[in-house]
Amino acid sequence: MRNRPIYLDHAASTFVPGPVLDEVMEALRRSQGNPSSIHGEGRKVRVMLEAARRKVAGLLHASPSEIVFTSGGTEANNAVLWSCYRDYGIKTFISSELEHPSVIKPLESLKRRDGAVVAYVRTDRQGHIDLNHLEELLHRHDRALVSLMHANNEIGTLLPVKDVSALCRKTGALFHSDTVQTIGKYHVDLSLDVFDFAVASGHKFHGPKGAGFLFVRHGLPLQPFIEGGSQERGMRAGTENLAGIVGLSAALAYCYADIEASQRHIADLKNHLVNRLKEVFPAVVFNGDITGRSAYSILNFSLPVRIDTAILLSRLDMEGICVSSGSACSSGSVKGSKVLAALGVSTDTPSLRVSFSRQNTKTEIDQFVQVLQGIVHDQFAQIP
Ligand code: PLP
Repeated sequence: MRNRPIYLDHAASTFVPGPVLDEVMEALRRSQGNPSSIHGEGRKVRVMLEAARRKVAGLLHASPSEIVFTSGGTEANNAVLWSCYRDYGIKTFISSELEHPSVIKPLESLKRRDGAVVAYVRTDRQGHIDLNHLEELLHRHDRALVSLMHANNEIGTLLPVKDVSALCRKTGALFHSDTVQTIGKYHVDLSLDVFDFAVASGHKFHGPKGAGFLFVRHGLPLQPFIEGGSQERGMRAGTENLAGIVGLSAALAYCYADIEASQRHIADLKNHLVNRLKEVFPAVVFNGDITGRSAYSILNFSLPVRIDTAILLSRLDMEGICVSSGSACSSGSVKGSKVLAALGVSTDTPSLRVSFSRQNTKTEIDQFVQVLQGIVHDQFAQIP
């Protein structure tokens, strides 16, 4: 077992770097009061909370009043979908089968329990949505909410958000995008009137787990989606996770401080892995659009060998290498990926998702490929 694992699962979660950790610890040390209390200790904590909100809003060009802190991406996605049904009278949702379960599951519940109409837009083999089909669906359904993710968490395919938004504006639909895999990794300008709702999760961009936020475009006030207190302007009751929120805001600043350098470094690592895999496994198949509109931080590929994915993942784990077979939620049980199935990717051979951070190195990528090659070789050596 190596001393330090080779961690290549940053789309699932990330490390908290020193400067962010320092801010989290300082927030924990200084936050004895409740931000809703009117005494001095409470006010001190409220000041920290609102400073974090202003920092997040400033980095994303939003207004502080458009940011609602949540426990993460899952809660924020659920809040948008349920609230739009309940508060805006939206009865039709247009989405895709490639969305994260925190979008698909509430949509399926809205359909089953509340009779909402859910239409899925066609996607191609690389995970791109068919814009003509989206337009057709939008013309067919009045007052819809379009929910399409910015970067797919399993294959990295990027949505042309401006085109989708333009179609929504033309037809009067609202646009929600699960931006969990892009906020902190790309410059996102929320003032551009592209999104009505966007969501983020701190632990995907080097913040602590359990803190995220929902962006609600000005003029679209949601009704309370958790009741029992006046926090988050009454929309989301419950004492705020101050240390998590401070950590989230520090992590976002950490990411945007030198985002261009990170983008270049990580894109270079991805490219290096593509080339190494092609050398070692000439018949490797890359899932998604690796040479086109794809997040620089995610690479998904299928190996041209018959090894059970669970066995492959556990052999890699024994060698101290952390990758995933798809989304974190499905990798615990190593069920087949619904996203890959929807794209028509064969499940006869294993598929892996590698997701990088600025801390990864080419040496780690080389070691990963070497270990993978060894496992495949051993597997075939065992066949009589
Ligand atoms: N949306 C996407 C695209 C994700 O990748 C994830 C996490 O895997 C989530 C939502 C859920 O975020 P959280 O872990 O903050 O609930």
